[in-house]
Amino acid sequence: MATLLDQYESIVGADVIDQLRQLARLLVGKNVLHVNSTKAGGGVAELLHRIVPLMRELGIDAHWETISGDAEFFQCTKLMHNSLQGKRMDIPETMLKHYEVINAENFGMLRNSLEEADIVFIHDPQPAALIENLPERKGRWIWRCHIDAGRPYRPVWRYLKRFVQDYDASIWSLSEFAQRLPHPMYLMAPSIDPLSDKNCELSREDLEKTYERFGLDFERPIITQISRFDRFKDPLGVLHTYRLVKEFIPIQLVYAGGGATDDPEGEEVYSQVMTSAGDDPDVHILMLPPDDNLTVNALQRISDIILQKSLREGFGLTVAEALWKAKPVIGGDTGGIRLQVVNHYTGFLVNTPEGAALRIRYLLKRRNNLKEIGERAREYVRENFLITRNVREYLTLMIAIMHEAEDRIELA
Ligand code: UDP
Repeated sequence: MATLLDQYESIVGADVIDQLRQLARLLVGKNVLHVNSTKAGGGVAELLHRIVPLMRELGIDAHWETISGDAEFFQCTKLMHNSLQGKRMDIPETMLKHYEVINAENFGMLRNSLEEADIVFIHDPQPAALIENLPERKGRWIWRCHIDAGRPYRPVWRYLKRFVQDYDASIWSLSEFAQRLPHPMYLMAPSIDPLSDKNCELSREDLEKTYERFGLDFERPIITQISRFDRFKDPLGVLHTYRLVKEFIPIQLVYAGGGATDDPEGEEVYSQVMTSAGDDPDVHILMLPPDDNLTVNALQRISDIILQKSLREGFGLTVAEALWKAKPVIGGDTGGIRLQVVNHYTGFLVNTPEGAALRIRYLLKRRNNLKEIGERAREYVRENFLITRNVREYLTLMIAIMHEAEDRIELA
C-alpha cells in the first residue's frame, strides 16, 4: 500500500512533497495536539481526519481530541458562532458560565494530553476557553478560527477575546475575517483533500446509481447546492433561483444538506425549505447523514453547475470541492467564496437570485464556456486549495513558533 505522501505526490507532484519532508525534519517527534468539538460534520473535522495522519507520516507525534458538551453548551456555541458572524444576539450570563464549566470539565478529561503537547491547535470557539485552565503551560497554544469574525456582534467578541488573547498565536482564513489580537496572527486559507471519499474519482457505475437513487433524470441539467440547513447558506434563495431558471430551461434542483452534530437550528430551517419546495418533482431536498461523503461527491459530479448562494460564509469548502470536480460555481459574493470563485474564470459571483439565475442560463446555453471554466477551476484548486498547501503552512508556522528566538532557521 502506497503511503499517503506517495498518493499525494501523484496529484501534486514530487516537488511539493519534498518540500513537506524538508520542513517536517525540524519537527520530528514533536507532540502536536488538535482539539475541536466534533469528529463528524463540517469542514474542520474533515480536514483533521487527514491532516493528523499526514503529520504523523511526516514524523510528527500528532493527535486529535474532541471536547464533548450537552445541548445547552452547543446552543451557546451556536449563538457565539452566529454572533461572531454578525448576528446581534446576547448570550445569557448563565449560558456563558455553563460554557466555561463545560470547558473546565473537558480540560479535566484532556489534561494529560494538553499538558504534554509541544503545540496545541484549538479549533473555533467551542474549546477556546480550555486555555484558562492551564495558566502555566509548557506548550505553545494556537487558536485556529475558521469563522468569519470580521464584523462580530461586539459584546460576544469581547467575551471570547478574554480567552483567545491568551494564546501564543492565532490563524484566520482571510484577513477580512480577523480581529486584532495581541499576538502573532497568521492567514491560511482552508483546503480540501483530493483523496477523501468526498473528492476522489468515482466510477461511471457509481454516478449512474446516484441518478437512480434520487430519481434524477439523466437528460436534463442538474443544479446543486450542498449545504447545511442554515439561513446563512440561503436555501430559500436557492429555491427562488431555481424557479427563475425553470421558466426558461427544464432544470432539476438538488439541495443536499445534513446536520452537523452541533447545529440545533438546522431542523427549523429544513422544514421551511420543505414547505417552500412544495411538491415540485424536480426539486430534490435531501437530508444526508453527516458522513455520506461518497454521495456528496457523486452529486457534485453529476451536476452541471454548483451553486453556493451563501449570504455569509466562512471559507466555503463546498466551493473548492466543486471546482476540483471541474464544475463552474455560482457563489454568493461573500467570505471565502470570493477567494475561490474568480469571476468569469472559475465561475460567477452573484448577489441575488436573479443574478444567479442569469448566470445559470448563460452557462447552460454555452456548453463550451461551461467546460472551459470547469477545467480552469480544477487547475485553480490544484495550485491553491489542496490539503498539501495547508500542511505546508501548518509546518511553517510550527517551525516559526518553536524557533522564534533564532535569527535564522536552517532547513536540512
Ligand atoms: N457537507 C456534507 N453533507 C451535507 C452538507 C455539507 O458532507 O449534507 C459537507 C460539505 O461537502 C463540506 C462541509 O460539509 O465539505 C461544509 O463545509 P463548508 O465550509 O462549505 O460550510 P460549513 O458547513 O462549514 O459552514
